[in-house]
Amino acid sequence: MEFYDVHTHQIFLEDNDDPYHSCIFDVYPLEFEVAKESYERHAFSCGIHPWYSEDSDTQMAYLNEIAPNPRIIAIGETGLDRLKGPSFEVQTAVFKKHIKLSEKLSKPVIIHCVKAWEELIQVRKETRPTEPWIIHGYRGRPELTKRLIKEGFLFSIGDNINVESMQLIPLDSLFCETDEDEMTIREIYLQTALALNMEVEEFAGRIAENVRRIFPALPPPKPYYPDEEEEGE
Ligand SMILES: [Zn+2]
Repeated sequence: MEFYDVHTHQIFLEDNDDPYHSCIFDVYPLEFEVAKESYERHAFSCGIHPWYSEDSDTQMAYLNEIAPNPRIIAIGETGLDRLKGPSFEVQTAVFKKHIKLSEKLSKPVIIHCVKAWEELIQVRKETRPTEPWIIHGYRGRPELTKRLIKEGFLFSIGDNINVESMQLIPLDSLFCETDEDEMTIREIYLQTALALNMEVEEFAGRIAENVRRIFPALPPPKPYYPDEEEEGE
């Protein structure tokens, strides 16, 4: 099995030294220079979180400079949050700058969205992106899930899941992540596979296919074989 964590902030977590999973670390533009020295094996997403999108022109200019770096394989997280951060006007303008960058560089977008689904769909209709948009930490209700699937969104699932919605999402639109959660990526794979009534090996195989399709530049981890590890002990 290969485990992929497509969205995590836990860059200094010891677990990430384990060769059996590959991560996309989410970093702010100003963190990237230092962060990229810390791991050769993992990759990065880089963007300005909607919470901190006020007065972000300098960061945005810097993001535009560094984003072509091949180790940055996704733009974000970016998006819209009704509960925290500056006005939607400010958030939307910054979000749209990320979209423009994503399209220009052909790199997917990692999306943070809290209670702003209509606005998110509106921005997607306006900008008509060709790059994949992955909603991270997704746990929306079934009705919303159906709409987002129809609009062409992809989904990344963490520790907190809506089982009914999970079963609606096509398997080729799914990823897993640890974000800031306490569960490990293996635990999240197990929990998600269980919600889908799948064997974790089969589930991991499908997620790995998605990663190869959407993030072909993410270096694969060492495959993990639970049985062999037990024999070795
Ligand atoms: Zn996050």
